[in-house]
Parts: sequence; C-alpha cells; structure tokens
Amino acid sequence: MKKGFDIKIPSGKQLRLRYLLLDLNGTLAKDGVLIAGVAKRLKMLANIFDIYILTADTHGTAERLFGHLPVKLHRLNSDLGAAEKFKFMKSLGEDYCVAIGNGRNDALMLKSSALGICIVGCEGTAIEAIKNSDLITNNINDALDLFLNPKRLIATLRG
Ligand SMILES: [Mg+2]
Repeated sequence: MKKGFDIKIPSGKQLRLRYLLLDLNGTLAKDGVLIAGVAKRLKMLANIFDIYILTADTHGTAERLFGHLPVKLHRLNSDLGAAEKFKFMKSLGEDYCVAIGNGRNDALMLKSSALGICIVGCEGTAIEAIKNSDLITNNINDALDLFLNPKRLIATLRG
C-alpha cells in the first residue's frame, strides 16, 4: 500500500502529507516514559506515514522506548535543536510533513511544516510553539487521532 495522507481542507489548503515528525519529551513522553496510548497509535499511523522521532535523547531512553516500534529515530547532536529539526524537515520536504511538538525549539519546524500541531501537555508549552502552529490539542493522543478520524481535522481547520 502506498503511504500518504491526502486531504483537502474546505476553504483551505490541499494537504499531501507523507512524513510525521515528532518531538519526544513533553510531546510523546513524560519524564522519559512514553505516554499511555502512544505506542498503539504509532503502530497504526505507520501504515500512513513514515514516522520520525526527533530527539537529543537527554534521558538516554529513545532506543528502549522506540526500538520495538515502526518509527525511525533522528538524533539531534547539538544544542541547536530548532535549527536541526528544521534542517531535517527540509531534507524530507516540508510540504509533506506534519510536525508535532511543544517546545520553543519546535516552533520553526511547526511553522514551516505543511501542518503543525502543538501539544499543551505535562511539560507546558512554549508560547512561540503555540503561535507557530496550525492547531493545538491538549494531549498527544488527540493529536494522533486526527489522522485516524480526518473529519475532526477538517472540522477544526476549515475556513
Ligand atoms: Mg518537547
């Protein structure tokens, strides 16, 4: 099956999404532990997207958390998180990317992606990330479910 998520937002953009880029801490995980419900959703969404976890892996837990899941780890090897996340997204083609994050270093990626989703979760959310997103959910599972229930996405984004 060919991967991809194509959707026309009424009075809005035609989205041709192919890649899902996810921040780790504060988005998918709390204190180094994967949030309940995320693993099963990533397995389902791997049929639609190529999924990348973008992380500096500060807690050293990424391999343990994601080794058994159909996702790829993209390690950030410096404190220049924002620039590295953006550069990686550009290498895939930002027009095909969904970005999900909560931090200030996600703001550039959220702004430049075809669809940027901000999570208001346990670690709080940088105002800059909020301002640069297309929509906000209050947890990662609701964000991921938008792609399993596209009518929700249309209802929120339509003009
Ligand atoms: Mg974060």
